[in-house]
Amino acid sequence: MVERVLLAEPRGFCAGVEMAIKALTWMVRVFPPPVYCFHEIVHNATVVEVFERAGVVFVDSIDDVPEGAAIMLSAHGSAPEVVAAAASRSAVMVDAVCPLVTKVHHEVRSKAAAGFEIIYVGHEGHDEAVGTVAEAPSAVTLVDPERGLADFAPSDPSRVALVAQTTLGVFEWESVLADARGRFPELWTARRSDLCYATTNRQEAVRELALAADVVLVVGSETSSNTMALVRVAREHGAAAYRVDAPDSIDPAWLESAATVGVTAGASAPDSSVRAVIEAVNPSGGVEILSVSRESEYFPPPPQLRAFLSALQAAVEAGVSARHPGRPGPLDDDRSWGATEALRMLGG
Ligand code: SF4
Repeated sequence: MVERVLLAEPRGFCAGVEMAIKALTWMVRVFPPPVYCFHEIVHNATVVEVFERAGVVFVDSIDDVPEGAAIMLSAHGSAPEVVAAAASRSAVMVDAVCPLVTKVHHEVRSKAAAGFEIIYVGHEGHDEAVGTVAEAPSAVTLVDPERGLADFAPSDPSRVALVAQTTLGVFEWESVLADARGRFPELWTARRSDLCYATTNRQEAVRELALAADVVLVVGSETSSNTMALVRVAREHGAAAYRVDAPDSIDPAWLESAATVGVTAGASAPDSSVRAVIEAVNPSGGVEILSVSRESEYFPPPPQLRAFLSALQAAVEAGVSARHPGRPGPLDDDRSWGATEALRMLGG
């Protein structure tokens, strides 16, 4: 019988996911269906289902988008040719790439232009890795953190740069970084690690959970890289840890001899899934928060969406309202709502 749930803080939606979900909510509110989205807006099955029900069609090729349709590009970042194709094909294209992924794209472009050979530590085939490597494919070697650098042999060891997918396990990244520094003393790497604040904060919190709980449940989808990293970090620190999408993925045998169950969630997992999992665990003594850090990051809506909605607002006001110029509009109020509310509005 489970006595208590320890609930990690921070967990769940990061600022990039908040921004992307709210941006796609705007799109389905403003445009008649279907609205197209290149790749899953975020890697979470529940979120994707909510948007599909609201009229979003997710595609893996811009060729599948009809000419003139509204299209959004996912939070993971897209290859430059995808962004260009989407912009030329659609009437309104909104790129919901997270600014922290954009930072890594920029590093790849600038280091490639400066003649560096670039090691990109990431997971082959992941949307973020595909989009980032495409910035300079001939200059980048993708290295899986589990395989390490053994096969990497640069032509000039004094001109090597090391960048990373934002959602890696910190311990995996640190081991590649130490190896690269040992082999290439003049290695260039970003002053602040490419692993984003949400990745590192959630991993710090799950480390504490792993030390305090008998079993750790990580809410999130299998396609979510940062969710899978949370499972690996918890296991690395001695806990039995399992990824669950929803209550029906919990195997009762996991909890048979667990008095304390730790619960956390990947950066794309909605709070509704976390609450459903806690309800299914049904701790006799209730839920305690295990707070490791607090987050206040906020990313404003993508520039294309801001420009489009501002133009729309101005047109409506000019036509039908007697509003005084300069009165706050919907975008001025963006901090007052969140992605959880957006999903609720859409019936999720
Ligand atoms: S996990 Fe990090 S990089 Fe990915 S969307 Fe969230 S804040 Fe951005």
